[in-house]
Amino acid sequence: MTLRIDVITVFPQYLTPLELSLLGRAQESGLYELHVKDLRDHTHDRHRTVDDTPYGGGPGMVMRPEPWGEALDQVLARGEAEPVIIFPTPSGVPFTQALAEEFAERSHLVIACGRYEGIDARVAEHYRALAEVREVSIGDYVLAGGEAAALVMIEAVVRLLPGVLGNSQSASDDSFAPGRAPGTELEGPNYTKPPSWRGMEVPEVLLSGDHARIRSWREEESRVLTQQRRAEA
Ligand code: SAM
Repeated sequence: MTLRIDVITVFPQYLTPLELSLLGRAQESGLYELHVKDLRDHTHDRHRTVDDTPYGGGPGMVMRPEPWGEALDQVLARGEAEPVIIFPTPSGVPFTQALAEEFAERSHLVIACGRYEGIDARVAEHYRALAEVREVSIGDYVLAGGEAAALVMIEAVVRLLPGVLGNSQSASDDSFAPGRAPGTELEGPNYTKPPSWRGMEVPEVLLSGDHARIRSWREEESRVLTQQRRAEA
């Protein structure tokens, strides 16, 4: 089944990079479908208002629930099987390769991009009863909006879909791929031609043609790198 991704945002143009390169080709070849919806099309006042002041006081504005309710109802009314509604938020669970793999198995992802101080909390609460809701963070920092997080998640998910990467670019050796042994989560260094560049030589083992030695060299490089950079892994 073709993966359908709906993104709801106040900045639809923010998603245009997805027309480029690998993801653009994947879309053109029908390997996944992307539908971007403007949240402001679900407002009914002259100013197309989507935000308001926070109850309880404090700085910034919060996104009102009504446009979100209307937009999400419309997307869910399509009746796609088992939708997952993803709310990008710094307070969500970490987005990992394992979560990307999980999302790549689904048939309908809906990404609700917040702005300002975020979306009125009743929206996620309401949809929890109607669909699977996941609040997801792409890292411990704060972005201005969920669109960049949506781009990150879509790219990580779509490259895992069958047919998106050519045979020569399998995702199975990548850092964090499910098959990697514990302690070797990070992929080691890669080299290409020329064999000598600015006085630096490609490691001799990689030119040896000895696949067993190359495999064990790569494993060791990966172990050292993972230990250095992810001591907790
Ligand atoms: N007040 C929120 C907080 O402190 O948790 C931050 C809101 S942020 C300025 C606006 C929007 O950007 C959020 O609603 C979310 O959609 C998105 N966002 C910001 N940082 C993010 C992150 N690390 N991961 C995913 N989404 C993020």
